[in-house]
Amino acid sequence: MNVHEYQAKAIFARFGIPIPPGNVAETVDEAKTIAEEIGLPVMVKAQVHIGGRGKAGGVKFCPDIASVETHAANILGMRISNQQNPKGQIVQKILVTEAKDIASEAYLGITIDRKTQRPVILASSEGGVEIEEVAKTHPEKIFKHTVDPRYGLQAYEARQIMFNLYDDAKIVNKAAGILLKLYQAFTSSDASLAEINPLITTPDKEVWAIDAKVNIDDNGLYRHADIAEMRDTDLEEPAETLARSKGLSYVKLDGNVGCIVNGAGLAMATMDLIKHFGAEPANFLDIGGSSNPEKVTTAMQIILDDPNVKAILFNIFGGITRCDDVANGIVTALKNMDVHVPVVVRLTGTNEDLAKEILAEANLPMFTTMNEVVQHAIELANAN
Ligand code: GDP
Ligand code: MN
Repeated sequence: MNVHEYQAKAIFARFGIPIPPGNVAETVDEAKTIAEEIGLPVMVKAQVHIGGRGKAGGVKFCPDIASVETHAANILGMRISNQQNPKGQIVQKILVTEAKDIASEAYLGITIDRKTQRPVILASSEGGVEIEEVAKTHPEKIFKHTVDPRYGLQAYEARQIMFNLYDDAKIVNKAAGILLKLYQAFTSSDASLAEINPLITTPDKEVWAIDAKVNIDDNGLYRHADIAEMRDTDLEEPAETLARSKGLSYVKLDGNVGCIVNGAGLAMATMDLIKHFGAEPANFLDIGGSSNPEKVTTAMQIILDDPNVKAILFNIFGGITRCDDVANGIVTALKNMDVHVPVVVRLTGTNEDLAKEILAEANLPMFTTMNEVVQHAIELANAN
């Protein structure tokens, strides 16, 4: 799960990371009030889950109230996009925060290295800009340090890392302290990414985090009710929000074959096979080990709301889930709703014979192999 900069800063501040004072606003008037409270100059910053806001015109320095008014009015409602997210997001919130004098900008990030299966710290004196850019042009300027999770990050390691970035021992100590706190924030929040870009020094050698980014591992969210509440559903696909509220895991894609599958692995394999036979899946959808007609109905509703969908493919393996239960669920769901696209079903496993009878009564042909059902679904989608 992604959170906004102001929320990431709130998480970091709990661990003692120095964050300039600020507050979030949804209107120009609120922005002006906050600016007056914290004192000028301030930065006005777009709150969207998209990197490179500065480049896109979503981060502005405001020396006086008149410029707070102009920039707040401009940024609220602005659409911000980048290469990874060309569709972009509309700015609905802005952060108004004290502007700092900048002497240097560094990069500091912690993520999980899949290869070593450990947290890895990335640090660079070339902060402010996108780290991917530094990685391309000056890979030698990025320092990598793998942490042994049995002991956690040690103070001497944090200092060693920071000596790569700064000459001044006072600054090294301050920055090392921030890195230790960032490591605490990262592990305690079950984050998959915790990033400060830039970590700045001021002319009088203070060190501040003036940007913050946190991704939380969804599988750890149940342990962090306070962070789970930070989710901004305004920025998500409405269908994905609905699916999550019903316990379905759904990702919208751009193809025309809708998929309803039990199990994430089978769902991935189904999408692979659709691509293999030259078509594109409309979605990823894992309904879990459930045969509950209500879940099937919700899944169908979500998929049918997508105008690109021209056929729906069920791919269910009955292990603990019984095929006859699922078949009943599908038949009930189809009876209760207006389905305007063809539906094809592959059911195999426990009680598949019973399932076949149930589906036959409802005039639904049942397939048992994935190749057959996927090819059939693609044919119907393309003919529709
Ligand atoms: P991003 O572009 O989305 O990463 O947004 P950032 O919060 O990192 O801001 C982009 C850039 O704006 C920073 O790299 C700084 O150069 C500049 N900036 C942000 N906050 C301040 C500030 O308090 N003072 C000054 N002088 N510049 C700032
Ligand atoms: Mn940044």
